[in-house]
Amino acid sequence: MLEAPKPKSDTTKLYIDRKYGGRGLKSVQQTVKEEEQSIKPYAASMATSDKLPADFQLAALTMELRPDDEEIDWHTKPLHGAYHRPISEVGDLCQTYMWLNRGNLTTNKKSLIRAAQQQVLPTRQLQTKVYHTRDNPRCRLCKYAPETIQHITSGCEQLAGNAYTERHNHVAGVVYRSLCDEYGLNKPQHRGGGTPCKVNENDHAKILWDLYIRTDKHVLANQPDIVVVDKENRKATLIGIAVPNDHIIAREEKEMVEKNHLLGEDIEKCWDVRTTVIPVVIGLWLQ
Ligand SMILES: [Zn+2]
Repeated sequence: MLEAPKPKSDTTKLYIDRKYGGRGLKSVQQTVKEEEQSIKPYAASMATSDKLPADFQLAALTMELRPDDEEIDWHTKPLHGAYHRPISEVGDLCQTYMWLNRGNLTTNKKSLIRAAQQQVLPTRQLQTKVYHTRDNPRCRLCKYAPETIQHITSGCEQLAGNAYTERHNHVAGVVYRSLCDEYGLNKPQHRGGGTPCKVNENDHAKILWDLYIRTDKHVLANQPDIVVVDKENRKATLIGIAVPNDHIIAREEKEMVEKNHLLGEDIEKCWDVRTTVIPVVIGLWLQ
């Protein structure tokens, strides 16, 4: 039997577990939150084929990203903070979510991506460990590692030689096309317009795409993703591109700068230019 609280007693204690000295009641807010959380995996699994769950997912996301959130110190928020903290340490929170408004994606695609980030897509690991509808959690492609979202997005050896390379080249292609625009160079007509030519050149600039560069000294990395030579300013920019899982973003950036640095030094001597290394590292931000 729950005894009546004393007038003006601290109401927060009502909702603290009894074993910690509280009354063990559930607040209305907490109950609503729990209901929302429990319906999310279902909405995620249905969002790709049904508009209503897709709308629910997007509405839930909009609530998470309401404008006031920009003012929140994520370091003090244990739930969302666990996800937002790593982003704010290496990148910009608003730019990270820019794809939601400017990515030109359908509602269903946004929901699918969000479901993957939240790791609620029905992978075999989830079906085995959470839904208990399968016995074997192993990946349906390599048949070896547990099929998690991390494994599918960056760890499966069956996808390493094709899908991951294609993803990398898509990102590199966007950078390449922007550079062509900047220097007035010809470019593939559309995003899927084939592999760029190895050397693209006019009077102002030269862009090298995934080209082996002969050096005087022995360096480990001789083949940057993109090299831009600005002829007028005697400047060369080495651009490395990677799309890793979020927890290794900082390491990936550091390694990319280090491995291209030696090549940059050699290029400075041989080509009589100043060099800069720019890493373009895009995380997958799984929550
Ligand atoms: Zn696999």
